[in-house]
Amino acid sequence: MTDSLPATAIDRPTVEHFDAIVVGCGAAGLYSALCLPESLKVAVVTKATVSRSASDWAQGGLAAVTAPDDSLALHVADTLAAGAGLCDRAAVEFLVAEAPACVARLVELGVAFDREDDRLAVTLEAAHSRRRVLHAADATGRAVISALTARVLDRSNVTVLSQTLVIDLWLDAARQRCLGISCLQEGRLRWLSAGATILATGGGGQVFAHTTNPTVSTGDGVAMAYRAGAVLRDVEFVQFHPTALDLPGAPHFLISEAVRGEGAHLVDAQGRRFAFDFHEAGELAPRDTVSRAIYAHLQQHGGDRVWLDLRPIPVDRILHRFPNILKACQQWGVDPLTEPIPVSPAAHYWMGGIATDRANHTSIAQLYAVGETASTGVHGANRLASNSLLECIVFGTQFGAIATANPPAGLPPEQRTDMPSIATVPSPDVAHWRERLPHLVWQAAGICRDAVTLQGAIAQIQAARATLQTLPIQHMMEQLQPGMTWTLDHPEAIAAVQQWVETRNLLDVARPLLESALFRTESRGGHYRTDHPTPNPAWECHTLVQGDRRWISRSGLGERLTPPWV
Ligand SMILES: Cc1cc2nc3c(=O)[nH]c(=O)nc-3n(C[C@H](O)[C@H](O)[C@H](O)COP(=O)(O)OP(=O)(O)OC[C@H]3O[C@@H](n4cnc5c(N)ncnc54)[C@H](O)[C@@H]3O)c2cc1C
Repeated sequence: MTDSLPATAIDRPTVEHFDAIVVGCGAAGLYSALCLPESLKVAVVTKATVSRSASDWAQGGLAAVTAPDDSLALHVADTLAAGAGLCDRAAVEFLVAEAPACVARLVELGVAFDREDDRLAVTLEAAHSRRRVLHAADATGRAVISALTARVLDRSNVTVLSQTLVIDLWLDAARQRCLGISCLQEGRLRWLSAGATILATGGGGQVFAHTTNPTVSTGDGVAMAYRAGAVLRDVEFVQFHPTALDLPGAPHFLISEAVRGEGAHLVDAQGRRFAFDFHEAGELAPRDTVSRAIYAHLQQHGGDRVWLDLRPIPVDRILHRFPNILKACQQWGVDPLTEPIPVSPAAHYWMGGIATDRANHTSIAQLYAVGETASTGVHGANRLASNSLLECIVFGTQFGAIATANPPAGLPPEQRTDMPSIATVPSPDVAHWRERLPHLVWQAAGICRDAVTLQGAIAQIQAARATLQTLPIQHMMEQLQPGMTWTLDHPEAIAAVQQWVETRNLLDVARPLLESALFRTESRGGHYRTDHPTPNPAWECHTLVQGDRRWISRSGLGERLTPPWV
C-alpha cells in the first residue's frame, strides 16, 4: 500500500493543541481514531509510513465466534486455557462477547474477509477448539489496515502525522497528568498537547535478536510510560512463535499458524513429526509448547532449525490460502510446494505491557494505552492465536465513550534554540547497544531463561544505561522544555536522534522485562525458567512494576485503576 499523506511539518506551529492524540497507526491506533467522537480534534501520529506496522503484517486472522457450531463459552474457555491461569476472566468475557459486533463493524467499514458461500469463512488455529479465525487469504492484517486507513483519511476531524517520531510524554509538573507528547517531525522538534494521549505503539519484538516484528516494534510506548511512572504488568510474558523462516540473510518472516491448522507437518532433519513427543496435540499445541518442543528437540538431537512441510495440504488450497507465504518463501529460494520450509522460533507477541482497565485508562491521568502496548488482562501468560487483532478492535471501540479533559488555559510559547551539533553526531556507543542489546536479551530472556543468565544481562543493561547517561545527546534531550524547538537539517543528525530514541526505549523495556523474568521463579505460559521448570500455584498472580517498585497482585484489575493496586 502506498502512503499518500500530505507533508505537514513545515506549515504547522511548534506547539499545537488537539483534543486527543493517538500514537500509532496499527489496528489499535487507526480503529481508536475512528471510534473517538467526531466532535474531537484528533491527531494520529506514526514514526513510519501509515502502512508500516505489525498489524499490516498479520497473516492468520482475527478470532470471533461466527460459526453455528461455535459458542462464546468455548472461545472464553480456549482463551483462558491458553492464558495459563493469568487471564482476567471478566476482560476475556468482554473481549469474546464484543467480538461478533466488532467483526460486523469491520465488514461495514470495508474489510474483505474471505467468504464461503454466504458466510464468513473460518479456519482453525492452534489451541482453538473450533474453526473461528476469520481471514483474508494470508494477508488479513493488510485487509484490515487498508480499510481502516481509507476511513481515517476521510475523517475531517483527524490529522495524520506520518514520519513523526514521538520522543517522550509531556507530563505536568507534578508528573501526575499527561499533557501530550514531544515529537520529531522532518527534523523539527514539536510539542502536541491534548486532553487525552493514547499510546497504540504496538509491541517490542525488536528487543530480541530473533523476531517476527517489524523494525518499528521497539517498545516505545511501554518505555515512555515506564519512564513517566505508569504501572506495567506481566512484562516477562513474551510469546515465541514456533515457525519463523530461518534462512541465512532472510528476515524472520512468519509462517502463519494457519498453515499448521490446514495440515502442515513440523518435521526434523529426518522428516519425523517430533512435536507429538511433547504434547498430544502435536504441532497444534499452544505456541509456547511447540516453541519449547523445537528448542528441546534441537538440544537433544543437534541442529539449529526444523522444517515445516506443507505438502500434506492440497496444492490448490495452498495457492488459495497462502499466496503471500508462498511468494515470500519462493523469493528466498524455497518452494513450499515441493520442499519443506526451514523454520525456528522467534519473539512474536508481548502479552505484558502498560496496565490498563476496561476503558484503556493507565495509572496516569489523561494517558491511555490500547493494543499490544497495553496489558488488558485478556492474554494472561500466553495469547490465544488471532486474539490480538481482535483486542485492538474491541478495546479501541471503548474510545467512543471517552471523556476528554478541557483544553489547557494556555500553551507554552515557542522558544527557538540551537541544537549543539556535538549532540547529533552519530554515537558509536548508541550504535553498539542498538546492535548488541537484542542478542543479550535473546540469550537471557528468550525461549528458556535462568537466574544466572538473567542477572548477567541485567548488570550489562545497567552499564549500558550508565554509558548513555554520559552522552551529549542524552544530556541535551533530558533538558527539553515544552515549547522549545530546533530543526535538524542533516539526515544523518535526524537518524542519530532516532537511533538514540529507539535505543533508549529498548534499554528501558529490556530492564523491566529481564527483572520481571528474574522475579517470577516459576514457569508459566510464555515464561519458561530452566531453574524453575514447573508452574507454581503461589505464582498464579500478576507482576506489577512502577519505576524501581515491583509487586504482585491477584486481582484481575478489570475495573478502573485506582492506586493502591494490590
Ligand atoms: C508477522 C506477524 C503476524 C501476526 N499475525 C497475527 C494474526 O494473524 N492475528 C492476530 O490477531 N495477531 C497477529 N499478530 C499480532 C498482531 O499483529 C499485533 O499484536 C497487533 O497488530 C498490534 O497492533 P497495534 O496496533 O497494537 O500495534 P502495531 O500494529 O505494531 O502498530 C504500532 C504503531 O505504532 C507506531 N509507533 C511505535 N512507536 C512510535 C513512536 N515512538 N512514535 C510514533 N509512532 C510510533 C508504529 O509506527 C505503528 O504505526 C501478528 C504479528 C506479527 C508481527
